Amino acid sequence: MKQTQFDIPKEVLAISDTIQKKGFEAYLVGGCVRDLLLNKKPKDWDIATNAKPEEVQAFFPHTFYENDFGTVGVVNEKTEDETLKTIEVTTYRLEGGYSDSRRPDSVSFSKNIDEDLKRRDFTINAIAYDPHKGQVIDLYKGQDDLSEGVIRTVGDAHDRFSEDALRMLRAIRIAAEIGFTIDQKTEKAIQENSSLLKKISKERIRDEFVRIITSGRATEGLLLAKKLGILSYITPELERGVGIEQNQAHKYDVFEHNLRTLGHAVNKGFSLDLRLASLFHDISKPETRRWSKEKNDWTFYGHDVVGGRLSRKILEDLKFPKKQIEKISKLVRWHMFFSDPEKITLSAVRRIIVNVGKDDIWDLMNLRICDRIGTGRPKENPYRFRKYKAMVEEAMHDPVSVGMLEIDGEEIKKILGIEPGPKIGYILHALLEEVLEDPSKNTRENLEKMAKKLNILTIEDLKKIGEKAKEIKEKVEKGEVQKIRKKYFVE
Ligand code: ATP
Ligand code: MG
Repeated sequence: MKQTQFDIPKEVLAISDTIQKKGFEAYLVGGCVRDLLLNKKPKDWDIATNAKPEEVQAFFPHTFYENDFGTVGVVNEKTEDETLKTIEVTTYRLEGGYSDSRRPDSVSFSKNIDEDLKRRDFTINAIAYDPHKGQVIDLYKGQDDLSEGVIRTVGDAHDRFSEDALRMLRAIRIAAEIGFTIDQKTEKAIQENSSLLKKISKERIRDEFVRIITSGRATEGLLLAKKLGILSYITPELERGVGIEQNQAHKYDVFEHNLRTLGHAVNKGFSLDLRLASLFHDISKPETRRWSKEKNDWTFYGHDVVGGRLSRKILEDLKFPKKQIEKISKLVRWHMFFSDPEKITLSAVRRIIVNVGKDDIWDLMNLRICDRIGTGRPKENPYRFRKYKAMVEEAMHDPVSVGMLEIDGEEIKKILGIEPGPKIGYILHALLEEVLEDPSKNTRENLEKMAKKLNILTIEDLKKIGEKAKEIKEKVEKGEVQKIRKKYFVE
């Protein structure tokens, strides 16, 4: 029997020790053994045992039931390390039949580790390790596959994928995370069984998709998913970009451009949200493409608006959290912002900040960087874009929403002695318009004075002022702001 020694956290050892002292077996299994053998820090620790879930619960003071499949979470209160806070202890399983490619019809417990390893997805995930004896159990040559960098199913690939179709996506996710290739037979079985993914819940698909995108090889992962016919079960909309030729500024088709944009977001280590916005930013170019005779080129008018809506739908279908959907679809919606600092006004910059919000404005700037590199341009931050960002920085100090006024609705109500109602809103907006024109007006004293003046007017007049102020703002936005440019760029 092979002897190996790894560095295992004492919290994990304490649990396996307790189980063994009670006369049961306890092995580390799955991803943690794989990662240890790869010299990587495991993301979580899984222990397999022949003790029944009730028995495991009796051994430890603080436990809970993780799921219906015999997994007990053992809680470690005394650690700061997230990966050690809950350690999953699962009773050896022998899986019952799968009639739906989704979940086993029944779960029966088993007495021996061999059977438990047999039901695991890939050889590299089917290695057990007894940390006390230093003994490795590797019935499916997982270590060979680890050293060759290959992902291969335990047993017949067709059978394993038709039992649980999610395994196909797991194969791609693990490949993207650890940089492995998928064994040929396993790949072929994925190609032949891809349609079984229809039966998998969107939440499970989302979780794997997220891990592909957050991995260091997100584009490679998506290309592999495409090659194996899986991508259309994640986001069919992406593949519509294949072969969609763009205008002369682009050398890549829409699909490749979206992927390259994501690729740069990955290289920069950007957040999941920004990666997804990069991936989806031109998702609606296929349906908005029109040939322009005048330009003698393709145009994509409205692809940002349509794309914002489509990204929202895609993310909703995949059951992403609401906040994330809002942010990503918003970034897609506004990614076409006009950024020539010579031709734009600070008001227009403020408008963009209002549209995407202060919190997300720098993500929008970074999306532009990814978009540029994804188009094949050499520079992330050419001079003019840096200048644009300086304008954003400038504008960030100025109020861009009613909330940024040095006075709020409640105060207006008190000062003017008026009832709550639309009037307060009109007054606030009228004040905001003034302040957008001239940020120096944003002082309590001044706003109070202005509010008192506005209060004398009728609701109809106030409404009109609001509209007029909007017109002024649009005029300003349309570019008659030489003066603003002078104010900020008098170099
Ligand atoms: P990581 O912890 O990095 O996410 P992992 O391989 O540990 O990777 P988990 O989801 O934690 O993934 O699963 C733990 C182990 O359970 C896997 O290594 C594998 O042995 C087994 N497993 C998980 N999902 C399946 C599945 N759908 N079919 C068969 N075995 C699975
Ligand atoms: Mg794991």
